[in-house]
Order: sequence, then C-alpha cells, then structure tokens
Amino acid sequence: MSAVRIDGRQVAKGLNRATRERALSLTRPPGLAVVLVGEDPASEVYVRRKGIVAGRLGFQHQQLTLPAATTQDELHAVIDTLNADPSVDGILVQLPLPSHLDSDAVLESIHPDKDVDGLTPASAGLLAIGRPLLVPCTPAGCMHLIEATGVDLSGAHAVVLGRSNIVGRPIARLLEQANATVTVCHSRTKHPERITREADVLIAAVGRPKMVGADWVRPGAVVIDVGINRLADGSLCGDVDTDAVAQVASAITPVPGGVGPMTIAMLMRNTLVASERRQSNRP
Ligand code: NDP
Repeated sequence: MSAVRIDGRQVAKGLNRATRERALSLTRPPGLAVVLVGEDPASEVYVRRKGIVAGRLGFQHQQLTLPAATTQDELHAVIDTLNADPSVDGILVQLPLPSHLDSDAVLESIHPDKDVDGLTPASAGLLAIGRPLLVPCTPAGCMHLIEATGVDLSGAHAVVLGRSNIVGRPIARLLEQANATVTVCHSRTKHPERITREADVLIAAVGRPKMVGADWVRPGAVVIDVGINRLADGSLCGDVDTDAVAQVASAITPVPGGVGPMTIAMLMRNTLVASERRQSNRP
C-alpha cells in the first residue's frame, strides 16, 4: 500500500478562501494582534508567516515586538491594552516566552473572547465540557485534515501520542467529541507501539524525530504527524518516519506541508469567529 499524502497547504488554502469570503460580510475586517517577546529566530519566522496570511485575508494585523528583557508587569500592561482595544478581536502571544516570564499567567490574562489561540483556561474548560468555542489551532487543524481523508471517526480507535495542553490534550478531546474511542500515550506509557498498532487514526505530537516507524502502524491507518524536528543537517522532519509509514498507512501528512499550514489557517478562522461574535454582540 502507498498512502495518500494529505496536502495541508491545499486544505489550508481552501479554508483561508472560505475565511476571507466570510470576513467580507463583516462591517469591519477582523483584527489580530500578535505579541512577540525576544528574538527567538523560529518564533520570528512563525510570527512573520501569520502576519503575511492575515494580510492576504484582508485582516487588520498588528505585530508587537517587545524586548527579551520585558517584565511580567510590562507584558500584562500590553495585554490589558489589547484586551480593551475595540479594533482587536484576537490576541496571540507567541510561545515560548523567555524563561523569566510566567507563560500561564500571561495566557490567563488574555480576555477569553479574544483567545484565538484557544489556550486560556476558559477555552480549555469549554472544550473539556464539550462546548468548544475557540479551539487550539493545531488540534483544530488536525481535525480538518482528518475530515479531508473522509475517514469515519465514529467508533474508530484514535491514538494520540503526547498530552501537552497545546496539542495532545485538546486533540484527544476533539476526537472523543467526534465519537472516536481515544487512547492517549505519553512518556510513561509502556510499549506505546503495541497501542499505536491498534489505531485507526494515529496522531503523533511528541517532538521526537521519526519515532513512529512502519511497525508502529496498523495497515490502512490514517496518520497525522504534528512533530516538527530539525535534524543535524538543518532539514525538518516529523515524529513519523514518513516514507516507511507511507507503505503501511492509507493516508499520511508530510512534514513540512502537512499540519503546519493548517495551524495558521485555523488561527485566521478563530480570529474570524471571534470577530463575528464581537461584531454581533453575541455572548
Ligand atoms: P511537548 O514537549 O509540550 O509535549 C510532548 C509530549 O510528548 C508530552 O506529553 C510527552 O509526555 C510526550 N512524550 C515524550 N516522549 C514520549 C515518548 N517516548 N512516547 C510517548 N510520548 C512521549 O510538545 P508539544 O505538544 O508542544 O509539541 C509536540 C511536537 O509538535 C513538537 O515537535 C512541536 O514542535 C510540534 N508542534 C507542531 C505544531 C505545528 O503547527 N505543526 C504546533 C505545535 C507543536 P509527558 O507529558 O509524559 O512528558
């Protein structure tokens, strides 16, 4: 078997087109503010890409770049200003923050209505009780890619490798809400390969290059590779050994070009949703 490669760039393009069209019917364009603290090169690339896509979709976009030595109080003051700014519908603080800053406290200070990254406790709580509103972008993007394969999640066994608040946990909730039976593996799981071999849908979100080999995958499974790992030669790879697993799976996301573009597309979608809600004064 040779798996279908799920083209995240194409799926993201379609989603962005729909987002742009929906945004045109609003009185004013959705407004996104992205806060970057310090000079982490990878974060600078991600923030730049978000700005480019926001611009293409006709969103109002502002990037606030703060020095690495920014204090907790100074950062909170910036967030408070954005929370109060009526032209800002969505606030994203690019992670990771410099180590002297308390990321949890910063995320908690974002007004839940403007939490387009879906990472505040309020957003996580709504997702946990089955009333998702602003869902973390990478998990939401993964669900979109799974839907694009046409696989029926109802009754399927989905296995998630990883349990971070940004990826593993929220995607497990979304899969469960789509009526999959979900197993979550983490660093203490014994023999994860025995569990992944039972998966109809396998999500790898660990951060270990090519950890998932062909012998970890059930023939015909759908495999979503969230991992982004940089190898010694500078190239990127995921958590899945793509070429080997493609011989076994029915569909697989490449790295790059799989989940990555969807993360930005879902950020734009969340910003649109937040803007629609604010412009129509929905609770
Ligand atoms: P974290 O480091 O926060 O979490 C990693 C998770 O993997 C933890 O839950 C950890 O378990 C688990 N884990 C570690 N080792 C193993 C193992 N041997 N077997 C099973 N589970 C293991 O990472 P993130 O969730 O933030 O990111 C995961 C990957 O996804 C990274 O490569 C990151 O770069 C990428 N990523 C990609 C995005 C995209 O847009 N494509 C967006 C966000 C992340 P434990 O909880 O026990 O420590």
